[in-house]
Amino acid sequence: MDILRLNSQGPLVELLQSTLRELGFYQGAIDGIFGFQTFSAVQRFQRSNGLTVDGIVGPNTWNALMPYIDGYIVYTIKEGDTLFKLSNTYSTTVDAIQTANPDLDPNNLSIGNTIVIPIGSVVPTDVSYTSDLLTMNLNSLRNIYPFLEFLTIGRSVLGRPLRVIKFGKGQKEVFYSAAIHANEWITTPLLMKFLENLCKSYANNLNIFGVSSRKLFDNVSLYILPMINPDGVDLVTGLLTENTWGYNNARRIANNFSDIPFPNGWKANCEGIDLNLQFPAGWNQAKEIKYNQGFDKPAPRDFVGYGPLTAPESVALYNFTLMHNFNLIITYHTQGRVIFYKYQDKTPPMGREIAEKFSEFSGYTLEDVPYNSGFAGYKDWFIDYFNKPGFTIEVGLGENPIPISQFAGIYRENLGILVTGMLE
Ligand SMILES: [Zn+2]
Repeated sequence: MDILRLNSQGPLVELLQSTLRELGFYQGAIDGIFGFQTFSAVQRFQRSNGLTVDGIVGPNTWNALMPYIDGYIVYTIKEGDTLFKLSNTYSTTVDAIQTANPDLDPNNLSIGNTIVIPIGSVVPTDVSYTSDLLTMNLNSLRNIYPFLEFLTIGRSVLGRPLRVIKFGKGQKEVFYSAAIHANEWITTPLLMKFLENLCKSYANNLNIFGVSSRKLFDNVSLYILPMINPDGVDLVTGLLTENTWGYNNARRIANNFSDIPFPNGWKANCEGIDLNLQFPAGWNQAKEIKYNQGFDKPAPRDFVGYGPLTAPESVALYNFTLMHNFNLIITYHTQGRVIFYKYQDKTPPMGREIAEKFSEFSGYTLEDVPYNSGFAGYKDWFIDYFNKPGFTIEVGLGENPIPISQFAGIYRENLGILVTGMLE
């Protein structure tokens, strides 16, 4: 982890502020700016943890903070320990400890062995969600919920892995994806928080939205691709900084489109291709429409590319989808609180019925896609090619990127969709 100090800036400072706030050391805004309030919060944390009180977040301070970022500790078993005692000490449950350590015999704890003890939660919902944070959170979930499976389905232009998580072992396959558009990154923590809560519910044998998590696990294989466009997300969230190739390339592209705010208006991958205009469902129509609108070269948004399926992120999504037999897909976007469920005039069997249910749970309206944005999207191709229900859901309301302060409402609105989508 980078060393943070007074005047440091960026998404890692947000994560620091969020963690200190959760621990009660910080009451200020989560703004990614390491000012005096953050400085004195770090000092308070250091004092109460017996660290050198210098207000600098170096290796020792990061080490002390990590359990609260990771959501678990690695604990060495001592004489007299029982899972019940440990679960009380760390405010967790025996079920959660047993889930994290499936080979552990609770009646025969071996002194000196290490176990994973979950503490608190993993996925923060009050910070800019970068690809680095995604990597950290996935590592945590892997340790806390070892029943999850992880796949890497491809790499972004900048070489970041495109990771898919699989929950469940049922015959029926369902697929949720998010953040194909860079400035719509709030959809990543939406899927990640849902995944965490689903796992937590499974570990403790509870219901989620009235449905048994164990039953979901047995009957469904849910695949989640939480961040299709990591390079673009890192640009918008400020992880990609000015001296990097990715940033400079994007900046150069954006200079040709001065009316689109930079980087907040950025949707594309870091080569200026709109990943959701790359699919072989009316790609030529999309090309004609978008070229006529002036997007005839790499752009912050709306450039379809020089051919369909040329961007590695879209190709990975396409190949992964072809390799499966998904009953239903949902692809998350922002904004507008609407649900799209057709490709042109084509509605797959059950598409309308499920969309109506989703609309009821979320309060979102069902709409037809405007003609000019009705081609070459992932959902368009999925419906056209498989004739199965596919949905684009536009969460949140306002200007992209939707502020993370909308997260709680967005989660509430979409929980019913995310659970019942697995039942269809
Ligand atoms: Zn979008």
